[in-house]
Amino acid sequence: MNENLCHCEWDLIVVGYGAAGAAAAVEAHDLGARVLILEKMPEGGGNSAVSGGGFIVPNDAEHANEYLAATFAFAHDEMDPETVRVFARDSMHLKDFLSRLEPEAEFAVWGYANYPHLPHADCITKYTVKGPDTGGVNLFNLLDRAVKRRGIEVRYRTPAKTLVRENGRVCGVTVESNGKEVRLDARCGVVLCCGGYEYDPASLQRFAQGHSIGGLGCPGNTGDGLRMAQALGAKLWHMTAYSCPLGFRLPGHEAMCLIMMRTPGYIWVNQRGKRFVNECGIDFHSALYAVNAFNPSNHNYDAIPCYLILDERARQKGPITHALFGYLGIKEKVTLSPDWSKEVAAGAIYKADSIEALAEQIGLDPDTLAATVERWNGDVRDGCDTEFARPMKRDLKAKETMAGLSSLTLSETIEEGPYYAVPLYPALLNTQGGPKRNARAQVLDMNDLAIDGLYSAGELGSIWGTVYQGSSNVAECLVFGRIAAREACARLTDCAV
Ligand SMILES: Cc1cc2nc3c(=O)[nH]c(=O)nc-3n(C[C@H](O)[C@H](O)[C@H](O)COP(=O)(O)OP(=O)(O)OC[C@H]3O[C@@H](n4cnc5c(N)ncnc54)[C@H](O)[C@@H]3O)c2cc1C
Repeated sequence: MNENLCHCEWDLIVVGYGAAGAAAAVEAHDLGARVLILEKMPEGGGNSAVSGGGFIVPNDAEHANEYLAATFAFAHDEMDPETVRVFARDSMHLKDFLSRLEPEAEFAVWGYANYPHLPHADCITKYTVKGPDTGGVNLFNLLDRAVKRRGIEVRYRTPAKTLVRENGRVCGVTVESNGKEVRLDARCGVVLCCGGYEYDPASLQRFAQGHSIGGLGCPGNTGDGLRMAQALGAKLWHMTAYSCPLGFRLPGHEAMCLIMMRTPGYIWVNQRGKRFVNECGIDFHSALYAVNAFNPSNHNYDAIPCYLILDERARQKGPITHALFGYLGIKEKVTLSPDWSKEVAAGAIYKADSIEALAEQIGLDPDTLAATVERWNGDVRDGCDTEFARPMKRDLKAKETMAGLSSLTLSETIEEGPYYAVPLYPALLNTQGGPKRNARAQVLDMNDLAIDGLYSAGELGSIWGTVYQGSSNVAECLVFGRIAAREACARLTDCAV
């Protein structure tokens, strides 16, 4: 053992201070545990604080269980029925949990089921915490106040490096502190809440189909928990599952900017200058899967990047995107210019007086792009997308998956120059994969047996697969953070010294 190691005793160590870590710490503290939170960044929040902060609250546990289980069936994904059942049951009480932490908390409806045609979709409502900021900030600030009121210690700039296991049981971590390796012991175990691997290019290359995949969230999420759990033989799951819309890059920034269109007058084209999908028909979280098909004929990912094509009317609607959340806007305070001039000058958006000149700037065949735009315009005038059946108008009877963001008109022509193109890349909200957990938030080994003393919650080894019901990631942070704490703290009396 390293001679620099020193000992410090806690009941529970929580690695990562986002929503999952905060929920675990508060619950464990309230059960009488002495809790330490380790956070590698200078401040807490992780992805949670820059997220939309939406969380689902079903109104019927059985119906939610059936609905959520059906989302796994779409993509034939690995599902642990007991884990989903427990999630469906406990997520019903999330508003009560937050209200217990702060009785004056208020909630707003944020949307409804993402797959309304599935049985029992009506039982799903998404909520956010009301407040002066974006949903994720409001939620994390509420949790952070609860942590502070309890006097729970958070050590910032203190990344956990390895898990310590003795006599078959996880009993602490080593951390890097002031350039030294230090061992911290925890009698009841360790809860890994340290997020996904959005900012670990090596893990993305290993597990994700596609390339040039970036992140919208916290740059601290570099897959540390994945490696720590793997080192102890954890089984992995959901490694091909990603919650990943499209976004664009602003030079000089690691985090990407999310694209959420303000205008119906746009199309996406691939590197062959052709549309490849109903742009409005994709669930927002699943856009990666629309662009990451490898073309075996030309040995290329034809749609990474793909290009958003718009016209002057679109530009006049204001900034290029509803960039309401994400690390770029919330932590780095980057704003987008209303007239797009800043982004054009920075090379993030291309601008030209004709479609053909635009095509040349981005390296597409001018005649093909012009023909694609002409066909689109003709289809819109005729009221029918003959290529991908993109609707002209939103179905007003359908409940919105994200309240207030979709416009009534879904399709408009692109015909008033100048014209604009934005190179779009996959932009992760979060990775879902990681160490498999069970309904008791225990991390499992290759034989599906619990690794003694090791728990996880949140995005690291999320319970969700390829097809994702929006706002279930934040919900699982709160549900499994609390379960992990209760399971670990069941050992408080056994472990007393
Ligand atoms: C822009 C955006 C919008 C989103 N909107 C929603 C939404 O509305 N609803 C929803 O359900 N989901 C949403 N998501 C996804 C959701 O935010 C995440 O799944 C969730 O917040 C993950 O929470 P967490 O607590 O597991 O991890 P995080 O909140 O990411 O926290 C992990 C923390 O661990 C720290 N860490 C990493 N490694 C170490 C280490 N070795 N030692 C110590 N600390 C470490 C990180 O720095 C980070 O602070 C969104 C994501 C983004 C980026």
